Amino acid sequence: MSRSAHPAGPRHADVLTEGHYSAPAADLNVLDEKVWSRTVTRDADGALTVGGIAVARLAEEFGTPAYFLDESDFRARCRAWADAFGPDADVFYAGKAFLSRAVVRWLKEEGLNLDVCSGGELTTALDAGMPAERIAFHGNNKTVAEIERAVEAGVGRIVLDSFQEIVRVAHIARSHAVRQRVQIRVTVGVEAHTHEFIATAHEDQKFGIALADGQAAEAVRRALALDGLELIGVHSHIGSQIFDMAGFEVSARRVVQLLAEIRDEHGVELPEIDLGGGLGIAYTSEDDPREPHEIAKALSDIVTRECEAAKLRTPRISVEPGRAIVGPTAFTLYEVGTIKPLEGLRTYVSVDGGMSDNIRTALYDAEYSVALVSRTSDAEPMLVRVVGKHCESGDIVVKDAFLPADLAPGDLIAVPATGAYCRSMASNYNHALRPPVVAVRDGEARVIVRRETEEDLLRLDVG
Ligand SMILES: *Cc1c(COP(=O)(O)O)cnc(C)c1O
Repeated sequence: MSRSAHPAGPRHADVLTEGHYSAPAADLNVLDEKVWSRTVTRDADGALTVGGIAVARLAEEFGTPAYFLDESDFRARCRAWADAFGPDADVFYAGKAFLSRAVVRWLKEEGLNLDVCSGGELTTALDAGMPAERIAFHGNNKTVAEIERAVEAGVGRIVLDSFQEIVRVAHIARSHAVRQRVQIRVTVGVEAHTHEFIATAHEDQKFGIALADGQAAEAVRRALALDGLELIGVHSHIGSQIFDMAGFEVSARRVVQLLAEIRDEHGVELPEIDLGGGLGIAYTSEDDPREPHEIAKALSDIVTRECEAAKLRTPRISVEPGRAIVGPTAFTLYEVGTIKPLEGLRTYVSVDGGMSDNIRTALYDAEYSVALVSRTSDAEPMLVRVVGKHCESGDIVVKDAFLPADLAPGDLIAVPATGAYCRSMASNYNHALRPPVVAVRDGEARVIVRRETEEDLLRLDVG
């Protein structure tokens, strides 16, 4: 399986090694609305604005690099997901994509639930006032202390990930004299990425309990027998950045089949299934993600059909989009530093951040686009690689893209669709100071996660 199944375009290695590059199809000054958050536009001077504020002002006030998050877009996406799935389903935002107290409040106000997968995420959620019953707790190795905290807080569900955890959670729930609502995470033998999925018999991975060999059925048997647990359903999460619904189809079919087996063996129809997250977004103009209402309809049709075939009541569906909500709502703003043209190859454009604020390119070979945003330009397009300032040759932010040939140090460039898995995966490599996240809405910008300072670094370093 290839990581990316985009049709061969000008970005692709095979084209590049032939030593000729097709010029970009689109005018570099035109912002493709697919990859930018909803309020992004260019003003009369050609500068990019978000929430009505020009990037030059944002750079001056908040510095670079920085993430700018379009709050009204974030809220609109939450509402679109909630509306698409309706009152008979639940949407859990996957907090690991990006979580802060402001985000928790927005989720709460827009009617979403929240997935957390660590004590730190749980603390953030509770501190910002997310009702515990709207929180789901995930993870393949939750510590006893984390489970205790989740049970004490009264989280709505804990997603059990192993045989040991079934016993662990049951024990902790009993010692707190509660019946903890739980789901069992099963691995359905489907792995999905972008346009492809593979259905396999076995799952060679750390998450969940395999359906294969009756493992999941055995987990259900054990969970049903423990009085500290109230088993409410089965959970499946199949991958990330998925555009093709076929993987969900296989996953839903296998999960429903398990529900039918549980009914036959135990005489209980579990009331819920969770189909996880992983829905794709547009990182470049070549990506065509589906709208939430299309996804909701596709998933609900699949589950309804499979349940009818198995003569089961249709369970309540939940989904867990992370990237699809926050990913498109933010961009990273950088200042251009050194520009190094390599004859016959490409031009390396260095920015004031890099793999410390966006590890996805180095980690997953992720594709991004980039634009000159402090001005427009009529110069010819030049093939660039946008790189960071870190001591690592793999420190690449955007592997292949076009920027105007008159690009100069001091210009501002922005990488769109960096709302998910960028700040949340940011590091202090080279003692970089992690950038702030600034929420922009209706002409106002406010810091929701501040920039780290050198004092922060020294405070952690106790000498
Ligand atoms: C990571 C994850 C998600 C969210 O994935 P996205 O690709 O951000 O939608 C949802 N559920 C589980 C269990 C996950 O591990």
